[in-house]
Order: sequence, then structure tokens, then C-alpha cells
Amino acid sequence: MPLETVVGIQWGDEGKGRMVDYLAQEADVVVRYQGGNNAGHTVINEHGEFALHLIPSGIFNAEVTNVLGTGMVINIQSLWEEIETVRKGGVAAENILISDRATVCFPYHQLEDVWEEVRLKKEAFGSTRQGIAPAYGDRYVKKAIQIGELFDKDWLRKRLTNILEWKNQIAAGVYEQEPDVICIDEVMAWAEKYGEKIKPYVADASQFLHEAEEQGKTIMFEAQLGALRDINFGIYPMTTSSPTLAAYAPIGSGFFKSVPNHVIGVLKSYSSSVGAGPMPVEQFGPEADAFRKHSNEFGATTGRPRRIGPFDAVASRYGVILQGTTEIALTKLDILSGLDTVQICTAYEIDGETTDHFQLNNKLENAKPVFEEMPGWSEDITGCRTFSDLPTAAQNYIFRLEELMKCPVRYVSVGPERESLIDRAADGSLKAA
Ligand code: GDP
Repeated sequence: MPLETVVGIQWGDEGKGRMVDYLAQEADVVVRYQGGNNAGHTVINEHGEFALHLIPSGIFNAEVTNVLGTGMVINIQSLWEEIETVRKGGVAAENILISDRATVCFPYHQLEDVWEEVRLKKEAFGSTRQGIAPAYGDRYVKKAIQIGELFDKDWLRKRLTNILEWKNQIAAGVYEQEPDVICIDEVMAWAEKYGEKIKPYVADASQFLHEAEEQGKTIMFEAQLGALRDINFGIYPMTTSSPTLAAYAPIGSGFFKSVPNHVIGVLKSYSSSVGAGPMPVEQFGPEADAFRKHSNEFGATTGRPRRIGPFDAVASRYGVILQGTTEIALTKLDILSGLDTVQICTAYEIDGETTDHFQLNNKLENAKPVFEEMPGWSEDITGCRTFSDLPTAAQNYIFRLEELMKCPVRYVSVGPERESLIDRAADGSLKAA
């Protein structure tokens, strides 16, 4: 059985949501295995336009079970609000399963996130302030609450009493907050209110996935953010707080039988990034502003303008390797239509040396991009549905990216809608690549 995993190769926002929405038409189960509501997938289909933050992108297919895996941190209020939003769009959203071992992200985690960003002043991470880092931090110092613990009130109060005593000392001592700023009764009331709402969806996700596999079901894994934001291999510490790599899917989901053997790495045709950290290809000024507007690069969670630049082959090749990518889905190619030339960064100049080795942040901060240029194309390509429909210059751009990424580009996305996609395996052009 192919275990399909859809992951980001760059900094996130590559268009994973639209790819999962497309591929989930063939799936029985879609699993999110890391992250929280700190990023969003935008999906446009016959139900409308949705920004999903916690719910897997298979939600629009009623036949798909959407699993929120153990590796996630889940703000149950945000999850409930997201379920209600999707329902308003006419989607039943009954097909959800939440791992009883996933970590709860509480309102006090959001407070801690804000306090720390404020304390850091100019050194702030640019956190989305959803509490994700404090919640993951708690998991590792063994002070987190798992979803399944929400439903045993005495147990929960006992554990929270201990945890909040510790947290309130830090709040007062480090962040100069009022004594006992985090109130146990308020936390318990929140946990009870939203816990009751999500309770029908909570189960042992690992057991469910093993049974699904035994029944021959097709399981797809969906990651949030991209390889360069991976906690271990990304631009640390300007990363997210969880592993964003395909290799983590078995652990984050609780499905241990096999590793993902079909990894679709989603790659944007240019570079964009939200948050701080080195980005050697970043461009500034009115031209960059115009491109940002044209490409609609504003955060799905925060609305923040994204940092943008030309395609970075050094960072992207690193991401392709990290993800164990077997096939690339290239997105937003339509956005490049109308440029006289398209630039590709093929190397960095660091301390007077040219390198294509993606390094640690202290080196990347001084990296200057080395560009090559290719002819652009002026045609509107949003109606293209086969590779041969694309202008020759666009085809050549894809061939060059394949060469640099050392990986085939199977899908080419030419618009945000589900059907605005070229599948080169279907049109026979993949072999020629
Ligand atoms: P994700 O987090 O990786 O799912 O990325 P986003 O939700 O930020 O998706 C990228 C944005 O680009 C969304 O608004 C999508 O609707 C849109 N999008 C995805 N693919 C394409 C494409 O091929 N062309 C255009 N114009 N927009 C796209």
C-alpha cells in the first residue's frame, strides 16, 4: 500500500492544502501529524474558500476520516470554532478523529507566547502567538495535558494544580505578572466547555490507523509548514517547534508499520516565508511589494505580509533531501507569467566563497544569492491542463528545476482551484523529464 505523504519543501505556505484537497479525493484517511493552529492551509473547492489551521485538508471529502494525530498540539477552542466555520460552508465535518494522546494547547500557552515575544523585543521570533512553542515545551518537560485527560475532572484538576503553580511562579518572576495570573478555575471551565464539544471525536488514533491499514484503506499524511522550519534540521532557532519532515509521520500519527514511501514535496515556483530567520533571496522595495500583492503572499493565520524572493535552489534542494521527496508538486507557476526573465538562485556567496551547501544560520545571515536568469513567458497559463499546453519557456523552467532539485516534478499547479493542476503522470510527459 502506498503511504502518501504531502509535505512542504521550503519555508511553508507552498500550497500543501490544495494538493491534499486534490489527492484526498482518492484517500480514505488523511492524518495531520504535527503542529497546531500556527499556520493555515488554504483550500478552494466547490464548497468555497477555507483557511484550515487544525483540521486536515481531507475534510471536504465526506468519505475521508481526518485524523488529528498525537504529534499535534491542539487548542480545542480553536478546533471547535474551525469545525463550526467549515459547517457554515455546508460541510458536515463529522469525519474527524482526534488522538487522545495529542497535546492540549491552553489559553495560558498563548499568554506565555505573548509574554516571551514581548520580553524578547527586537529578538522576537515573530511567533504567531498561538502558544505552540510553550505547549510543545511543556510536552518535553512533562507538564502537558493530553486530550484524553480532559475527560477525567479530578485527575485533570490535580495535574493542572501542580502545573499552574509552577507556571504562575514563572509568570510573576520572569514576566512580572500579577500573582496567580493563571486561574485554575478558569482553565478548568475552559477545558470542560470545549472538551465536551470535541469529546465525540476523541479516540485512540494509533489503533484506528492500524485497523484502517488492515482493512486496506489508503492513508495519506499531511504536514504543516516546510522542511526549512523543521525543529531539528531547519533554520534553528527560527523554526517551528515540531518536526515538519515526512520521516516523522509514523511517530506523529502513531502508525509505525512502515515509513512513508511516496513523498510528495510541495515546492513553490518562487520563495516566500513568514517569520524571522535567514532568507538569502529576500527582495525588498516597490517591485517586491508589487509582486507580493500580485502573488497574494499574506499569512493565512495572521494576514502578515510574507517575505518574498526568486526561487532558491540551494534551500529547496536541501528541503528536497530532508523530505526524502519522491515527487515534486510545483505550485503557483501561473504567478510567474508576465516576467521578462525568471531568476533562480543556484548558489550562495558566503565569506567570499561560493557554495551550494545549506548551512547554519550564522553563515546564512551573511549569504549573498548567486542568480542565473532564464527567459520568462507572457501567456496566461491558468487554463493549461497538460504539460504540452505550457509555453516552452515555462516548460524549460520546470526542466531546470528538476535538474537542480534532482527530483521529478510530477504535478504543476497553475491556479488555486482544485482542477487547476497538471498531472504529468496522466499526460505522459513525466517520462520525458
Ligand atoms: P499551505 O499552508 O502550504 O497549504 O499554503 P497556503 O495555504 O499558504 O497556500 C498557498 C496559497 O496559494 C493559497 O491561497 C492557495 O489557494 C494558493 N494557491 C495554491 N496553489 C496555487 C497556484 O498554483 N496558483 C495560485 N495562483 N494560487 C495557488
